Amino acid sequence: MVLQVYPVLCRAGYMDNYSYILTESKSNLTAVLDPSETEPIVAALQHLKVTPTYIFNTHHHFDHTDSNRDLKKLYGAKVVANKNDSPRIPGFDIGVEPGKTFDFGQTKAHIIDVSAHTQGHILWYFPQDKIVFTGDTLFNLCIGGLFEGTTTEMFAALQKIRQLPEDVLFYPGHEYTLPSANFALNNASDSKEVMAYIQRAKERLQQHLPVAPIALGIEKKCNPYLRADTLENFTKLFR
Ligand SMILES: [Zn+2]
Repeated sequence: MVLQVYPVLCRAGYMDNYSYILTESKSNLTAVLDPSETEPIVAALQHLKVTPTYIFNTHHHFDHTDSNRDLKKLYGAKVVANKNDSPRIPGFDIGVEPGKTFDFGQTKAHIIDVSAHTQGHILWYFPQDKIVFTGDTLFNLCIGGLFEGTTTEMFAALQKIRQLPEDVLFYPGHEYTLPSANFALNNASDSKEVMAYIQRAKERLQQHLPVAPIALGIEKKCNPYLRADTLENFTKLFR
C-alpha cells in the first residue's frame, strides 16, 4: 500500500464534484484525478505541500477536466487519459489503453474501459492498493447518466466493477448519496443494510466529510444498480 488519497470537494453545492489528490509515498509522486475547479485543488496541494507530476482523467466531461490546463500551467503536470478519447481531453499528453497498465511510481493503475456514461470512460484501478476511481460510472447508491451509451453498455460496465474484489474501496466523481437514498431504499433487498449506509452517510456529510470510500462488497449489497445480476433486472430499474 503506497497510495494515499485526499478527496477535494469542487463545485461545492451545485455539482458536488470530487477531485482526488493521489500521492505515492515510495517515489514521492503526486497526481490529481479529475480536476474540475482549480482553486480548491491548489489550496489542497499547498496544504499537503505536494506538486502534481500527473493529471489523470476518467472521461472528457468538463466537470472532470476543466482544470487540466491550469494545473499544467502551474506545475508542468502531464495529462494522462484514454488514448481513444484524446481529442476530447483538454491538454492531453499521455495516452493509456484499456486492458493495459500505467506505472505510478511503485504502484500500477489498471485501465478498465467502462464506456456508457461516455464512450471512452475508464476506471483507474490500483489493485495493489485496493482502490478504484469510478468517475461518473458508479456513485454511492446510484450510477452515472447514459449520455453516450445504452443500458446494455452500462450493465456490462458495472459487471466489470462487480468482478473486482469486495474489499476494494471506490471513489466516485460526485457526492450524490442522499439524493439517491429513497430510490435505493425502495429497491433494497435488505433495507436494514441500506438504512445503515444512509445513516452513516448523513453523519459523514454533517461533519463535511465525503461519504467515500465505501468497499465494493457493501456497495454491491446496497446499490440497486450494482446489485442487479442480470440485464433484465438492471433494465427494470429504468422503468
Ligand atoms: Zn460525466
